[in-house]
This record gives sequence, structure tokens and C-alpha cells, in this order.
Amino acid sequence: MQIHSQRVKKTITIIGGGLAGAEAAYQIAKSGVAVDLFEMRPQVMTEAHGSDSLAEMVCSNSLGSEEITSASGLLKRELRMLDSFFLRSAEKARVPAGSSLSVDRLHLAASITAELEAMPGIRIIRQEIREIPAGGMPLVIASGPLTSPAFAQALSGLTLRKNLYFYDATCPLIRAESIDFSKLFAASRYEKGEADFLNIPLDREPYESFVMNLVGAEPEQARDFEKQIFFDACLPIEEIARRGMQSLAFGPLKPVGLVDPRTGARPYAAVQLRQDDLKKHFFQLVGFQTRLKHGDQKRIFRTLPGLENAEFERFGRMHRNTYINAPLIINQFSQCKKDSRIYFAGQISGVEGYVESVASGLLCGLFAVRGEPRSPLPETTAIGALLSYIAHAGWQDFRPSKFTFGLLADSGVECRDKKRKKELKAERACEALQQWIKRSAI
Ligand SMILES: Cc1cc2nc3c(=O)[nH]c(=O)nc-3n(C[C@H](O)[C@H](O)[C@H](O)COP(=O)(O)OP(=O)(O)OC[C@H]3O[C@@H](n4cnc5c(N)ncnc54)[C@H](O)[C@@H]3O)c2cc1C
Repeated sequence: MQIHSQRVKKTITIIGGGLAGAEAAYQIAKSGVAVDLFEMRPQVMTEAHGSDSLAEMVCSNSLGSEEITSASGLLKRELRMLDSFFLRSAEKARVPAGSSLSVDRLHLAASITAELEAMPGIRIIRQEIREIPAGGMPLVIASGPLTSPAFAQALSGLTLRKNLYFYDATCPLIRAESIDFSKLFAASRYEKGEADFLNIPLDREPYESFVMNLVGAEPEQARDFEKQIFFDACLPIEEIARRGMQSLAFGPLKPVGLVDPRTGARPYAAVQLRQDDLKKHFFQLVGFQTRLKHGDQKRIFRTLPGLENAEFERFGRMHRNTYINAPLIINQFSQCKKDSRIYFAGQISGVEGYVESVASGLLCGLFAVRGEPRSPLPETTAIGALLSYIAHAGWQDFRPSKFTFGLLADSGVECRDKKRKKELKAERACEALQQWIKRSAI
């Protein structure tokens, strides 16, 4: 794939030179269109970035497994097929880490910055954007989870304030096929409405041992700037447990208004599960936002009756995160429904994670260059499934999402062996993407 040398006809503005913005800038410039890339650092720093480099990974140095049967492995395979600049640079900054791709973060960011600075067609402007730029040219908003407050304020005018979120307090999501429903009963508190919740009844002893498990587990350390989130939003479940043996039984596990039809009695405490999607593939553990490590979440939540073999589609989490209510705001091209010149890329668009943010930036770059009409990515590909999911998920309870194999349809790849099934889905994804690339002449 060559950098085109055709005359520049338009300029695309990108706000934010992080993982998504840097990838989008490269893709746009490669196709011969000029880019103005606005990055506010170093004049205005975020709470997490430590340098003035573009595409700085702010925390872990891992980009996940390379195995094609892992979610991040498949995403990376697709990104390579799409000529991802970030991934190519990451290869050069690789550090030994077994079968996963880990990098020297600062070296990677510095080399990406140098390459983009030298690339024809890209102008990097170190300035905080505080208003949505006017004009008819395409605009890619990639200001990330730590978008500056002034720009967030401007964005809330576009998205309506209620559709722009500033933190992410997410409950774990469990795959339906891994739940033993025979140990749960369906009921809503005080029999209000349909029996929308599934309840795990707990006697005193298992309840207390659950609380002790939570109290004994070690949560991820909150950064200073995130601590306020707990008070602004809601407390992590382990923090509630720490406030006293009964606090969960008076909080998210309160049994009031619930009667177990099998005993005719009110349980001592009850954990509630709510369906997450129309097809009932996933169930949320209600009120279980948490900062516990993934291993501890798995270990502790699997002690609950019915969840002994629970498979987690997503773990619970809590951190500062600016993101839009994607299903209301954007279509599957990540394009703003209200103003079609605007694209949202990276974490602010409702995807979650380094690799997902790069993928979103790459596609936004391509979409912004092409304009309309264009053909959507097949939903059998990892990136296509992710973009489609965030554009069509339930808006009432929307949370940023990583790519998981659960987002790829099972039809056509039914297979009992889970690893083989993933292999089949991965093969199908790569074939579909190859055809899309050919069709779209990328
Ligand atoms: C503290 C923290 C830790 C994380 N750790 C991980 C992790 O370990 N693994 C993982 O997979 N994901 C992690 N994430 C999630 C996510 O993958 C990263 O935040 C990722 O960098 C998102 O990419 P992005 O391009 O959307 O945003 P960013 O990479 O943050 O880029 C946004 C850029 O926009 C700039 N900007 C913001 N506002 C303005 C403005 N008004 N004008 C101009 N520029 C602006 C910022 O300075 C920044 O450079 C973490 C997120 C946070 C907040």
C-alpha cells in the first residue's frame, strides 16, 4: 500500500493525537488527503499521560495475545490486514512477552510521533480544542477517555449532556449458557412489572462468606483523580462490603420484596441478574461495579449458586472515562447521526481498550476519506462486529465495549469444541475482511 501523491483536495481535522487519532491521521494522509491533527499536550496535560508524544499508551505496555483464537489476537490480525500503522510501529518496539505483543511504550510513542511529523500532508498542531470547529470538512473526534473538560463541555452541546458520560462503572456480564438457571428464580421486587430479574437467593452463611471474600480481595489501586468517581457515581461492591457485614444486604443484595417461590420465604440476601441483550445471550450482575482484579472477580463471583461455571463476557470495572452514548449518537460508520461530517474515534466513541481504539481510529480515517456511499464492514469480522455492536447496542444502559468472540454470530460455525469454534470464526472473519478490502479498493 503506497502513499498516494495526488493533489490534496480536502483537509480533515482530527482532535486528539492518541492511539485512535494517530492511526486515523496516518490512514488519511496515506490516501493523499491533508490532515490537521490537534493535540493539546504538552500545554494541557491529562491526568494519565506522562509525555508529549502522540499515541502514548498510558498504563499497561501489553497489546494482548497474538493467538488468533483470542479476541485481541483476531483484532490485531485484522488490523495488520488493514495496514495498521500503530501495529507496524509496535512490532519495532516489541519487548519479550511470550505469546503476547508487549512494547516499550515510550519508545513506541516517540517513534510514532517522529514518523507522523515527517509524513507529507500531516500538520501537527499543539493546541487544546475547546469548541467544535465549524466548516464543511470532515472532523474526527478522538479526544479519548480523558477529553479536556472544556471540550467535553462543547461536546455535550452536540450529544446532549445526558448522552455524554464521564466515568465508567460497569457490572460484570456473564454468558447465559454458563449459568445454572435451576438455582435461580425469576421475580421483580414487590412483583412490580414482569419478572425481569433472575435472583440468586443466599442464606446467612453463604452471604457472610461472600462478603468476607470481597473484603479479603485486593482491588486495583485507584488513581487520585479517580477516587472522586466513587462518590460522584456509585461505590464499588467491595467498598460497600468493607463498610460492614450488613451493608450489601441493605444495598445491592437487599432481599426486600422478593419471595423465593420454591420456599415461599424471603431469602436472607439476593444477588440479581438482568438480561443484557434482546437475545438473552448475556446477563449482568446488578450493582456489581467493581475494581477487583479479573482473577478475583472470577474466583469470588463463581462462589455464588448457579454461577459455579460462569464465563465472563466482560468483567466489572470503574474508572474515569469520557464516552458518548454511541447507539444514540453514531451509526456503524462511527459517523454522527446529527452532523454527518463528524466521526467519533477511539475510546470516546464507546469502544474500550488500546487495540479497539486503534481499530476504531483506522476505520474512521478510511470512512472520513471516502465519504459516502461505502460498504459497511461485514459483521463476521471482529472490527465490523464491534462497530456494529456499539452503534446498535441498547442505549438505556450503554457501556463501552471491547471486542469479544461473543459478538460474532454462531450461525455457520456451530461446533462443540470451543477452541475450534473460535478458529472457524477467525478464519471466516479474515476471509470476509479480505473480500471487503478488495471490494472497497483499500
Ligand atoms: C488511566 C487509564 C488507563 C488505561 N489503561 C489501559 C490499559 O492498560 N490497557 C488498555 O487496553 N486500555 C487502557 N485504557 C483505555 C484506552 O485503551 C486508552 O485510554 C487508549 O489510549 C484510548 O485511545 P484514544 O485514542 O481513544 O485516547 P487517548 O490515547 O487518550 O488519546 C486522546 C488524545 O486526545 C488529547 N486531547 C484530549 N482532549 C483534547 C482537546 N480538547 N484538544 C486536543 N487534544 C485533546 C489527549 O491529550 C490525548 O493525547 C486506559 C484508560 C485510562 C484513562
